[in-house]
Amino acid sequence: MSQHETIDNLVIGSGPGGYVAALRSAQLGMKTAVVERNQIGGVCTHVGCIPSKALIAESHRYQLLNQRNNANDSLIFESAQAFKQGVVNKQAGGVRFLLKNAGVQIVEGEASFIDEHTALIKGAGSEQYISFKNAILATGSRPIELPALPFGGRILSSTEALSLSHIPGSLIIIGGGYIGVELGQMYAKFGTKVTILEGAEQALPGFEPELTAPVLKQLKADGVTIITGAIASTAEQTADSVTLHYSQNQKQQFIQADYALVTVGRKPNTDGNLGLERIGLPVTSRGLIETDEQGRTAVPHIFAIGDITAGPALAHKASYEAKVAAEAIAGQPSTIDYKAIPLVMFSEPELASVGLSETEAKAKGIAVVTGKSPFSINGRALALQATDGFVKIVADEASKAIIGAQIVGVEASTLISELALAIEMGATAEDLALTIHPHPTLGEVIMEASEQAAGKLTTNK
Ligand code: FAD
Repeated sequence: MSQHETIDNLVIGSGPGGYVAALRSAQLGMKTAVVERNQIGGVCTHVGCIPSKALIAESHRYQLLNQRNNANDSLIFESAQAFKQGVVNKQAGGVRFLLKNAGVQIVEGEASFIDEHTALIKGAGSEQYISFKNAILATGSRPIELPALPFGGRILSSTEALSLSHIPGSLIIIGGGYIGVELGQMYAKFGTKVTILEGAEQALPGFEPELTAPVLKQLKADGVTIITGAIASTAEQTADSVTLHYSQNQKQQFIQADYALVTVGRKPNTDGNLGLERIGLPVTSRGLIETDEQGRTAVPHIFAIGDITAGPALAHKASYEAKVAAEAIAGQPSTIDYKAIPLVMFSEPELASVGLSETEAKAKGIAVVTGKSPFSINGRALALQATDGFVKIVADEASKAIIGAQIVGVEASTLISELALAIEMGATAEDLALTIHPHPTLGEVIMEASEQAAGKLTTNK
């Protein structure tokens, strides 16, 4: 790229928001560049979704093989880490290939705004200015660091926790949200003694207790201890351990482990050298950028997507917003509609939710009918020896349109897409009940729960 050439679209950040925005932008015929200061593919590919799911899959295989011989543990974990890195490299290579193939220019370095139409990109030993007509900000987020528990030594963020060279003997996790539970269960399956400290009165706050119950049962079976109502205060480290002090019911307690992992949320990357102040773009008190229904910020030719905008910090939310923003810049009437964004936790059993829960619907004054069917009598679940959990359908009482669904159970992550499609298309419970689902499959549980919500069955199984 020559120094003062003006491009149509500058995308800053190459995570699932940025790279998808760049691809869509190029597909729509716009001259597009994507800038990345770290690794192409962003958090999701390198230190988030992909490595965590690779290690989780390895921990399941490890548990299944029951290879708990200490002498082999380090070798097994070494090969699990090597497998994870292979998966990450393939995924990152795929992203790079797609971008190049679509004609997107990849610029390595850190972008800072100089003015509303110019960015300075500082790479290793290089500097260049890029002029742009439009920009899409997709700078993502980083782990929140607690001032009393700064990362380093024996105090880990999720990034370090995914790259340990050995299986820790013991691990304290501060924060019982989805990342804490996924990583905690993963290490428990590798044989680590895991304790999760959660400030709220239940782990996985935000999910209905009936949904979390099968997960909590399995966590217990995997040897995970969960301490709720526990607020971490300080920590002391030695060369090989950490002692964490916390309060519970106004009592001071402490716990010692090889490592402490802090997973208390993520902070948007809207500070630092980005220079939003130079283009007059404000952020909220949480550092988020406000956008309209197309992702447009207060500076109309600059868009923001992904973890730096409101809503759940999820890769598919970022990619979805990315397509809308690129299409909006191309003049298309695309708009964001958040009603069918699935949330998935890759625990055992998996937990997935889309749309409204029964409680949320009632809080909004919507009269609902529900249907619930368990995996315990499903032939495929029996064959897989994974019978814990259920599918719950929430439908509008008058129209029977599906407005929400929750699944806890085997392959919930895959099954939830059918229900996201149902909500997206305005399908009724009867539509799903009348759809022939192959036998024997886990999807039949969705059909049965829908039959109940549609009023075709009189009793909950
Ligand atoms: P990011 O992926 O954070 O990418 C932003 C990129 O911008 C980064 O590469 C950064 O280096 C770059 N950047 C920042 N500032 C600049 C700058 N000034 N110049 C140039 N480049 C810059 N989500 C799911 O949907 N499913 C999951 O299973 C899942 N698992 C997760 C597990 C873990 C352990 C973690 C930490 C997260 C997980 N997430 C998951 C969340 C998911 O990773 C994020 O929601 C997603 O990566 C956000 O995408 P993004 O494009 O907004 O930003």
